[in-house]
Amino acid sequence: MRRLALHWKILIGMVLGIFFGYVMRELAWQSVVVDWIKPFGTIFINMLKMIAVPLVAVSLIVGLADLKDIAKLSKLGGRTILLYLFTTACAVSLGLLLANIIKPGLFINEASRQRLLEGFAGEASEKIKLAEATKEQGPLQPLMDLVPDNFFAAMTNNGSLLQVIFFVILLGIGLILVDESKSKPVVNFFKGLNAVILKVIDIIMVFSPFGVFALMAALIVEIPDFSTLAALGVYGTSVLFGLALLVFLFYPTLLFLFARIKPARFFRAISPAQLLAFSTSSSAATLPVTMERVTEHLGVDDEVSSFVLPLGATINMDGTALYQAIAALFIAQAMLPEALGLETQLMIILTTVLASIGTAAVPSAGIVMLVIVLGQAGIPEAGLALIFAIDRPLDMCRTVVNVTSDATVSAIVAKSVGLLHEPENKDVDLM
Ligand code: ASP
Repeated sequence: MRRLALHWKILIGMVLGIFFGYVMRELAWQSVVVDWIKPFGTIFINMLKMIAVPLVAVSLIVGLADLKDIAKLSKLGGRTILLYLFTTACAVSLGLLLANIIKPGLFINEASRQRLLEGFAGEASEKIKLAEATKEQGPLQPLMDLVPDNFFAAMTNNGSLLQVIFFVILLGIGLILVDESKSKPVVNFFKGLNAVILKVIDIIMVFSPFGVFALMAALIVEIPDFSTLAALGVYGTSVLFGLALLVFLFYPTLLFLFARIKPARFFRAISPAQLLAFSTSSSAATLPVTMERVTEHLGVDDEVSSFVLPLGATINMDGTALYQAIAALFIAQAMLPEALGLETQLMIILTTVLASIGTAAVPSAGIVMLVIVLGQAGIPEAGLALIFAIDRPLDMCRTVVNVTSDATVSAIVAKSVGLLHEPENKDVDLM
């Protein structure tokens, strides 16, 4: 009998989880889900996060050592950063275009506006407080944050992926420069370890349908109140429409033009990562799966994917950028329409690109950085309360875009340096 492909299993887990959560909510048995089902979702996310830092470190060492030449590294790095900036700028511009055409802020009536502002004022001020720390930093703080004072401390902190990347790049350059008799045993060791880690990811993914079931069930029983969703319908639909354009039109076009990859092949390869991004709302937790799928199923050589994907997970967030642009305009339209001159919109482009780079790859990080975008553009930060009610579902969708964009850029960069192969397509099924 033909085995069901992984993305179908995950999808079935998701749908069953939503259904189960809904039934439990109707029966008012939320606590059963929170106490007995949700922990399995958390365990699943923890397993993914547990393997992320070792995977990034080891695969990057192997990838860099294979490059064998530092000029190739700078070529790769330059193209990657340029492409990341390009896709993010396109996403922000699309967001602004949609928000200017649809004007979602004009669809919210006074009663809902007051209800949302009052109902979510607490949550909004919490996020504003979180953003304060970032605002007080000096201009070169992000550069300083890149260099760890202790590599092992960086390794033990999931939020320090860029520091790990920095140290490992130095290590990789060292490996390229030393005599081969010295580097060979080191590289061989890491190559073996890399293969083992990829296998561990396969094992973790066996549990993915169950993990996703638990995450979705918990999400449904914990949604505060379905009725608030209606007032934000036009805003939510604008964000979803923009995200859909990116996933189904923008990236497939780029892939076809610059990497000669047909959409069906691309989606078949990365859909498990997309589904996982949707269920976990975290591109960092999804990273191990993105790396495995892109390397083994899309055919991107790990010399490229080991470098491009971890970097992308931390700095390239097109979905977040598009969302921040639409959300900023939505809040301005609803609360302070006179703030919407061309100058403000240009400011939003600039700050959104930077804010999306600074956004951590974890759930709800996008809304914290939105505070900074609002502040720079002179839009009232308290307006954050307006969009809170539907932030989680939008977070899930923008995370899918963040991951899709990383995979797209890795394939284009790989093609440009001749490192895109026919995929091995080994659907490892342990179940
Ligand atoms: N959850 C998103 C991510 O991990 C970040 C965001 O909140 O936009 O990619």
